[in-house]
Parts: sequence; C-alpha cells; structure tokens
Amino acid sequence: MTAALVRAAGDLASEMAGLDLRGRIRLVEDRIPGRLVFTTSLGIEDQALTHALALNKGRTEIVTLDTGRLFPETYDVWAETEAAYGIRIRAYAPERVAEEEFVAREGINGFRHSVAARQACCGFRKVEPLGRALDGAAAWFTGLRAGQSANRADTPLAEADEGRGLIKVNPLADWTRAQIDAFVRENFIPYNALHDRGFPSIGCAPCTRAVKVGEDERAGRWWWEQESKKECGLHLHRPEADVAPGQEAAAFEEPASAATSREQRRELV
Ligand code: SF4
Repeated sequence: MTAALVRAAGDLASEMAGLDLRGRIRLVEDRIPGRLVFTTSLGIEDQALTHALALNKGRTEIVTLDTGRLFPETYDVWAETEAAYGIRIRAYAPERVAEEEFVAREGINGFRHSVAARQACCGFRKVEPLGRALDGAAAWFTGLRAGQSANRADTPLAEADEGRGLIKVNPLADWTRAQIDAFVRENFIPYNALHDRGFPSIGCAPCTRAVKVGEDERAGRWWWEQESKKECGLHLHRPEADVAPGQEAAAFEEPASAATSREQRRELV
C-alpha cells in the first residue's frame, strides 16, 4: 500500500510538471478515483487554487478549517469568494468540549505559554477538524509552495501522505509569490485585504503579524517561536511529539498598549 502510494504520487508529480494549473487539477481528478478534498485557508495561494477549481467545475470538495480565531478580513473574503463563484466552502469547526477545556485550562490566549500549549491549540482547532475533513479522502489538495519558507523548500507537486493514506497534491508547489500575485491580479480573484497590509501569510488573528521587509513569508506566524517549530501540524512531515511543555517558546512580547493599561489599572486600585 505504502510503496504503491509513493509510486503513484511520484508518477503524478512527473505528469503534473508539464501542465498549467487547471490542467494539473484535471489530471488529478482523472487519475485518482474517490473523494478529493481541497482545504483552503483563504490565503492568496488558496484563492488562486479555488479560482481554478471553480472554473474547472470538477469534483473536488472545497472546505476550510474555521478555527474560531480568524481575522474578520478572512471571513469577508470567504463570503466574497462564495458569492463570486457561486460555491459553498464547507467549514469544519473545533469540537466544542475540546475548546472549552483548553480555554478553561490555559486561558483564552493560553497558546502563548509554550510551544506545547500552542500545538495543543492548533491540535483541536486545526488538526482534529482536518482529520474529519479528510476522512475517506483519496487525495488532498493544498496551496503549499516551496518558496514560502525553509520548512517548505522541498514541497513536491504530489507526495504520499502515508500517515493519512492519501496523496497530497500541491499544484502550486513550483510557483513563485510573484506568479501568484500576477495570476490573482489578471483574473480578478478576490483576496484577503490583509495581503495589502504586510501579511503575506495569514492564519489565526492572535498568531499572525505583518512581516518586515526582507523577512521570510511566514515570519509573521507564531513569531515568538523558533523557525524550525513554526508549523501548525497540518503539513508536518514528522509529528512534533518531542516538544516538552515550556520548551523553545521565546518570551511572547505583548503589545505595549496592553502592558500600559495593566499598569494604569494597578494605579487605580
Ligand atoms: S494559530 Fe494560534 S489561535 Fe490558531 S489554532 Fe494555532 S495556536 Fe490556536
């Protein structure tokens, strides 16, 4: 099974290389029987992919992971995209009990206490819903690009996801950010307004900041952590079970305004 999956992914990647985006999607839909799922984060790469999928009118389901902590701008572009293409993007939400227990235990922003706490939050808000979204899927489309970060530099067009028993398809793996921007502009594709405000990569609101000139595209994600740990668990090649509570979490720097307000409150007591 595993060897066959690896071989099938390798063959698919080779064939995809010579095709344009819509051709790559069509090839996958022709070659892989069964359920096909695209998980969109509604970021700019995923908007390009949604555009191509919608125009192809194929059989790939478009879903998203609604963590409950997304930016208002992300919900706006979600609604705008559904209206523009006449589609529905199915949402997978965190399990209520898991969310309630995490917030009771760690606090509403408890993911900043340690890498382990952050991964636990990503676990119930993203990884577990992803498992449900991909249940029974034969292929999983993503908008990953090799140029997004050092962690993603070896992203292929298609790969075997042996843990999930499916083929992970990354049709934009060899695209540059400049190509994505041009494609979105030329095709009038709706995109998140935050991309124009210094956010090349957009995740949950409390865990994403704008990047500075010259920084890695994903430098604004979990910026208080070490670069090597900065994945949410959706696209890990290996599980990160070796991170102990408190390990590798640099001090989270809260906004100066929050600290000032706290000092002012103390003076009032
Ligand atoms: S990105 Fe932040 S808020 Fe979102 S699931 Fe991960 S830790 Fe939680």
